[in-house]
Amino acid sequence: MSINLKFIYIQILSIFRVNMNSLTEKDILSIVETWNESEDERELESDYELDVNRQIFEYDDSLVDIDNLPEVKDETENIRNMSSTSSNFIDPKTVAKDLKKKYSKVLWKQKEFLNKTYQLCFNGNTTLPNGLLNLETPYHFFKYFWTDELLEHIIQQTILYSSQLDPAHPFKINKAEISQYIGICILSSVIHICDTRKYWSPVIGNKLVQETMTLNHFEKIRRFIHFNDNNKMLPKNNSQHDRLFKIRPLITHLLAKCQSVPYEECMSIDEQLCTTKGKSYLKQYLPDKPHKWGYKLFVLSGVSGFSYNFEIYTAQENDPTKRLSNEPDLGCSANIVIRLLRGVPKYENYRIYFDNYYTTLPLLVELAKNGIHTVGTVRRNRLPNCKLPTEMELKKEKRGTVVEYVTSIDQIDIVTVSWKDNKLVNLISTFTGKNPMKTIQRFDKQINEMVTLDCPDIVKEYNRFMGGVDKTNSLIGRYKIKMKSRKWYIRIFYHLLDVSLVNAWVLCKRASIEREMEDTLPLLDFRLQVAETLCKIGTATITTRKGRPSKMENTTEVKRQRISATHYPSTDIRLDNYAHWPVWTAERQRCKNPTCSSLTFVICDKCKINLCFQKNRNCYKEFHLNK
Ligand SMILES: [Zn+2]
Ligand SMILES: [Zn+2]
Repeated sequence: MSINLKFIYIQILSIFRVNMNSLTEKDILSIVETWNESEDERELESDYELDVNRQIFEYDDSLVDIDNLPEVKDETENIRNMSSTSSNFIDPKTVAKDLKKKYSKVLWKQKEFLNKTYQLCFNGNTTLPNGLLNLETPYHFFKYFWTDELLEHIIQQTILYSSQLDPAHPFKINKAEISQYIGICILSSVIHICDTRKYWSPVIGNKLVQETMTLNHFEKIRRFIHFNDNNKMLPKNNSQHDRLFKIRPLITHLLAKCQSVPYEECMSIDEQLCTTKGKSYLKQYLPDKPHKWGYKLFVLSGVSGFSYNFEIYTAQENDPTKRLSNEPDLGCSANIVIRLLRGVPKYENYRIYFDNYYTTLPLLVELAKNGIHTVGTVRRNRLPNCKLPTEMELKKEKRGTVVEYVTSIDQIDIVTVSWKDNKLVNLISTFTGKNPMKTIQRFDKQINEMVTLDCPDIVKEYNRFMGGVDKTNSLIGRYKIKMKSRKWYIRIFYHLLDVSLVNAWVLCKRASIEREMEDTLPLLDFRLQVAETLCKIGTATITTRKGRPSKMENTTEVKRQRISATHYPSTDIRLDNYAHWPVWTAERQRCKNPTCSSLTFVICDKCKINLCFQKNRNCYKEFHLNK
């Protein structure tokens, strides 16, 4: 087979796999979600996008040749075997039948829905606890997620893995080195050089990276870094086998940290893609995205862009054994929502927004019974007995036409609204419908000018709050770690690092607003400061280790510094009490201690700034001790 043909063949196979996954997990259960709609239609139907300016999240990764694309076929069989062998298996046919029977009797009435926005007033607590409010520097916020405890675990597993590979020469690594490694990874998201090794190049390289670690040591860490004990991994044919085993401790730790932050009132659920060209059976094909291959994540994010919960798609998560005893089985996509919302307090009127991939009537009813309210786009054919008009029926109506239907299931009132914009939009909610009507500005192509349209409240509500995950995705996309790796868990490690950095930044912003403090650094500077601190904290620079720099180097260094504006080290580096050696320079310069303006020859070798050290004035000590 030619390379081209092989590529197309693999692509077709993988499209099938996307469908198969949702089918094979609980074969017939998907009937509940899709009702009379065929699986193909479900995949092909593009979600109508409202004007939330949904940004497409782009990822770039290493170029791996075509021969390295995944062998999809075997894995599909694997998934099938797994779901049929899993224990205490509830027959999905009966569940689907019961649910379908119950919901097929739903009666819809065309009448006005009584808006419940005020009745279902939010009564949750969003105040940050003191532990979070007291965090100060970007580094502290980052360390809230990547604690010393986590670093210790990674060190332990890395040493273990290296000794499994070569028992005679176990690799040695300490906390400072693993921090530096992470620091360099973060730095690479801001200063992009296509080949990682080139960070050590004297021409296009980066000085901070070179001063932090030798290339040799960096490559070694990259080779050995590990998060779990391979010897404890269950074989693939075991029903308890975890596909994410190699990265599981990291996921568990970070999820606990994300969920320890109080939830926001309005949150959305959507997909996230961590693209890769590496080889892995976890990889998904997403035809709508610019980069089509990647690991798929389902994310719960607040309007701020903070991710409170996420799930990496493995096709294993819908196994009945993983469902809590009080959780009903509502079909694969609705079950994702149920799982992501496990930690959200009940009966406090939190509001969740999602698109028609997740929306089903049973899901809305189940959430509303638990005091969680929703707005979502919905497919007509997921609403049994639905009276909503079709696109054709509203063809002659003018733009801005609204049709509203109401029903009540188990005493939960539900409203569906069809609104004619450029296309027909169908929305469903348990708290708001058409009223109060709002207006919206739209561009009319025919008369070539802006027009004012009537717009139902439910549309405004959806537009305002649906963009949480999109915001997370665009924040990650702005600066992300682009280092190449063929190991799937390393790619996910980088992605989780990116997610944590965005979370730390959003949290830092939220804390400074609550404390009524000054503005937070822009995301770029935030990332840079975290990276620099990780590289330098508690360690000496490599130049110092090698001894005094030559006289020549010294003078050029001084000249270079003169041109650039003073770069102060982060507070965490300044106060770390480690290897701040004073060095005598050739030229006198202003002391950089804020309270002083005298001239001095003395420079701190780690902070790279001039500080005076005189008989009656010790700025050097003051600068390194005063908070
Ligand atoms: Zn210093
Ligand atoms: Zn001074």
